[in-house]
Amino acid sequence: MPLVLEAPAARRALALVPGPPGTDGAPATEAVLLAALGGPGLRVAAVPFEGGGPEVGWTEEPRLGPEALRAAAEAALHAADALPPVLARERCVALGCGFLARCHGGTRGL
Ligand code: SF4
Repeated sequence: MPLVLEAPAARRALALVPGPPGTDGAPATEAVLLAALGGPGLRVAAVPFEGGGPEVGWTEEPRLGPEALRAAAEAALHAADALPPVLARERCVALGCGFLARCHGGTRGL
């Protein structure tokens, strides 16, 4: 869920994405935000959790066209097939992992 900031002359939408700077999903996230929110004065940014540099990189034009965005969506849909097997639940509990419900609750994947 993005943080949307609005003023009379401008709108900004900021989303956090998983991964290090340069994460592949960032251009797709930006394109989706631009398409979903649209309108004049809109700039968006997708900042990786692990840091995106000293300044936020705002963009007002999608870096992915429709075909590239479609390919990214299809890759995301098939990502669940590429996930490694889950660890034994006892190990996950011992690690204190916050994804127990996702990995061991039957909802793994997209
Ligand atoms: S619950 Fe956490 S540690 Fe266990 S498999 Fe999932 S992500 Fe890995």
